[in-house]
Amino acid sequence: MTTKSKFDDATGAVHLGRDPHANSGFVNPPVFRGSTVLFPTLAALKARSQPFTYGRRATPTTVALTDALAALDGAAASVLTCSGLQAVTAALLAFVRAGDSILMVDTVYQPTRKFCDTTLKTMGVETIYYDPLIGAGIAGLIRPDTRLVFTESPGSQTFEMQDIPAIAAVTREKGIWLLMDNTWASPLLFKPLAHGVDVSIQAATKYIVGHADAMLGVISGNERAAPHLDRVKEAFGLCPGSEETYLGLRGLRTLDVRLRRHHTSGIEIAEWLAQRPEVARVIHPALPSHPGHAVWKRDFNGASGLFAFTLNPVPEAALAAFVDHLELFGMGFSWGGYESLILPFDPRSYRSATTWSEPGPALRIHIGLETVEDLKRDLAAGFDRLNAAR
Ligand SMILES: *Cc1c(COP(=O)(O)O)cnc(C)c1O
Repeated sequence: MTTKSKFDDATGAVHLGRDPHANSGFVNPPVFRGSTVLFPTLAALKARSQPFTYGRRATPTTVALTDALAALDGAAASVLTCSGLQAVTAALLAFVRAGDSILMVDTVYQPTRKFCDTTLKTMGVETIYYDPLIGAGIAGLIRPDTRLVFTESPGSQTFEMQDIPAIAAVTREKGIWLLMDNTWASPLLFKPLAHGVDVSIQAATKYIVGHADAMLGVISGNERAAPHLDRVKEAFGLCPGSEETYLGLRGLRTLDVRLRRHHTSGIEIAEWLAQRPEVARVIHPALPSHPGHAVWKRDFNGASGLFAFTLNPVPEAALAAFVDHLELFGMGFSWGGYESLILPFDPRSYRSATTWSEPGPALRIHIGLETVEDLKRDLAAGFDRLNAAR
């Protein structure tokens, strides 16, 4: 049965997975910490009929978050994991068998690619990388041994938009699985399952937790996928810690309002960057200049705060002068928290089906919840340092 929220998403994010009057009236549910769950009688032990039987399987805390996320994803079942990467790898392992091949988007999150090239390879599963812009052309790559198509849109670091409905039409017709890493959008800005995807994956570490203070993942599947996800959950003992699960619940309550701010501030900074003489290209799906803008506009409800831009060629020392002394933008991995981040990247060593030919340095930027004018001032001072150092 698909859990469908009767609420609009913003209301659902606030109210789903909470029952204050079952918890002495307190607004937030308590954090259940536990392994052993006691059975009152031998008959109860044999029947296993009580709602909770062992901490690894479920606690009221994990059920609260899985129920809320399943409703927001329009999923038949959701499974929580210890990280976004664990959500990706467990979802893949739920479907592949030795001798299969999979079609993996070339612009996938780099550790996903590494998992395919190492673990899946040793298991006898072949990975074939495809161009994110392939759309319905994916049909031409499907072989008798193709088990699934994996998508991530927009692409990691380079933000290519995939035509998910076109790919879904093909996978449905061919009877193979379609998976999507939907971390950039969260279930509030894009609904993979409503667009024909079988399994939606989130690094909840990013926008759902939203405060850079916990690692968490979630896999949501439709009716057909749910038994496979349940099996992999049981097999791997997938169970994030109580504290992390609670932080996911707490982050969820403000997800809608945070994403709205990330959306408007992100677009404002993207447009500002596009005017800077030091910037060669701004890569943001919500800008009309983005090649995938029409797809984004058709399928997504908004943009999050993560995008990229490239600089006109400068010496490494000038790039360092730009990023080393920023006051508000931190340099580090991950994103989706309340704070702004910046990270130089070069995708050339981890792409095989696409080419990256931007001559200057590329930077991924996360626009946090700070005041936009302060962020612009920080970046402008960085450009001053860059110009002085070249
Ligand atoms: C960060 C990220 C992940 C992995 O999430 P972790 O919680 O860091 O393991 C997976 N996919 C995408 C697109 C990500 O950005």
